[in-house]
Amino acid sequence: MGKKILIVEDNPQNMRLVEMALSAESYFLLEATNGEEALEIAKKERPDLIIMDVQLPKMSGLEVTRKLREIPDFSRTPIIAITAYAMKGDEEIALDAGCNAYLTKPIRARDLPDLIAKMLLQWQEEDKG
Ligand code: MN
Repeated sequence: MGKKILIVEDNPQNMRLVEMALSAESYFLLEATNGEEALEIAKKERPDLIIMDVQLPKMSGLEVTRKLREIPDFSRTPIIAITAYAMKGDEEIALDAGCNAYLTKPIRARDLPDLIAKMLLQWQEEDKG
């Protein structure tokens, strides 16, 4: 069965770009446009990996990540943070919040699927061990 990936992104164009970057893969895509919705869908659907826009209305992607990490089911789920405004120290802040990886917009077409495949594999191997 295809892995479930939750995309959290408030900008429809960026959402479309992520969808397109993953269109050749056999993933089952779930989508949320804000933090509340992301938490709701995550609890219901238990995605295998989450792509998290950092800049979201109201609750930031980092706040959503911190909340997810407090839930045992999501303590180790791979989370990829994506930000449009890369500043020095941002990556460290994202990793501190509990994200596993960090990408800067604009995302190059192969970067996202490659990173996702790598992270899902890592996670699977950790589960076995
Ligand atoms: Mn955004």
